[in-house]
Amino acid sequence: MSGDLSRDELIEQGRAALDWIASYLERPQEYPVLSRSRPGDIRAALPASPPAEGEPLADVLRDFERTIVPGITHWNHPAFFGYFATSSSVPGIIAEMLTATLDVKAMLWKTSPAATELEQVATDWLRQMLGLGEGWFGITTDTASMSTMLALAAAREARPELAIRERGMAGRPELPVLRVYTSSHAHSSIEKGALALGIGLENVVKVDVDAEFRMRPDALAAAIARDRVAGRLPIACVATVGTTSTSSIDPVPAIAEICRREQVWLHVDGAYGGTIAIVPEFRYVLDGVSDADSLVVNPHKWMFTPFDCSALFLKRPEVLKRAFSLVPEYLVTREQDEVVNYMDYGVQLGRRFRALKLWMIIRAFGTDGLADRMREHVRLAREFADWVRATSDWELMAPVPFSLVCFRYAPPNTSDADRDRLNEEIMHAVNEGGDVFLSHTKLHDRFTLRLAIGNIRTEERHVALAWAKLREAAARAA
Ligand code: PLP
Repeated sequence: MSGDLSRDELIEQGRAALDWIASYLERPQEYPVLSRSRPGDIRAALPASPPAEGEPLADVLRDFERTIVPGITHWNHPAFFGYFATSSSVPGIIAEMLTATLDVKAMLWKTSPAATELEQVATDWLRQMLGLGEGWFGITTDTASMSTMLALAAAREARPELAIRERGMAGRPELPVLRVYTSSHAHSSIEKGALALGIGLENVVKVDVDAEFRMRPDALAAAIARDRVAGRLPIACVATVGTTSTSSIDPVPAIAEICRREQVWLHVDGAYGGTIAIVPEFRYVLDGVSDADSLVVNPHKWMFTPFDCSALFLKRPEVLKRAFSLVPEYLVTREQDEVVNYMDYGVQLGRRFRALKLWMIIRAFGTDGLADRMREHVRLAREFADWVRATSDWELMAPVPFSLVCFRYAPPNTSDADRDRLNEEIMHAVNEGGDVFLSHTKLHDRFTLRLAIGNIRTEERHVALAWAKLREAAARAA
């Protein structure tokens, strides 16, 4: 036995898989949004050891439907309103099939010139769509967490006098303590990046936020000043456009001014919120980013791109290259001084050919088509917020800058502790019902429901269903 499955098998089972995909996307209501599996269910339904003999692909696909799908929480469901709602789209799904077919490792220009050059073109299209000026260098990574870690590595490398690339950080008493600043509402990926780089969790300074959960520039300036007096070295600040709990927008222009004055690298985390800048009337959310050093946005969050696809933009890519470029003999190429070899800008050698889906999605929808869809999500979120506002016993817990609504059930004559319990009950009841899914956060230490809209197939009826289910659950819980 040798070789791959036959062409006939590819056509027959490929068609069956495509049929399944089409039905799945057409009839999401057949699945509970949140998987009803209990811990261990899926493993128990699968053989503990692999088959010695190959099995017909048709059987494997049947088991996919019977055994795997029940353990899926349907992120691609139009009534998935949890975390940040995301979705894949038809051009993205087709692009992923082609990507798997080509199986490119986009590491050197030579290992597929089109993968490198398409990444340059697609990230530059995205730059223009976001309204960023010329001169930004774009690279795709798997996640915003990775993009932010790379940005922090670049911030550290921007201090070549520390010689960390060559000498590391351990056992060097002459090395100052490095400090990174971000708001108390920033995503945990900033701390994880600092962990990975050996900066240490206690050196990620959580700057206070204002009443609308935005970083306070005066508090940032004060934190930097305190550190300077103590002999610590401020190296980076991460501002967020669209924080995870409430989608608040840090005041980037004022933060950028402080960073420039203090020579601190400014990275902007627009993982979720950044892509709304594609919509002309929301372009302002990236005000001030022209004075930052790096920006991350995630097409895999709110740009209908199947996971994974994060885009990191840098003003001085040579600093990131200095941090990571390492070219062993077997990777030397003749044209390396003329081309971009993306392996030079990160930890990975082999890299996914993500540019194909980004390019196909931008072409298939067009910039106007993408903007229209995102604008509709904002409209739906604002409408939901209006329903909450107009209903006694319910209240909004944060402003609604784009498509995330933070709210809670707050009947009169109940304590905050009662309200915490009620809202938690409501959330579990709604999610267990299977028609819609939403998640929560804590604001001012109070249990808060979050409804995030971002799926390309979400319509008003799905949002209305969520509101109906929430009110039913509240009536039962009260
Ligand atoms: N930054 C923000 C503001 C986020 O909300 C998230 C995830 O929700 C991330 C970063 C991390 O994204 P990823 O899963 O791409 O690492």
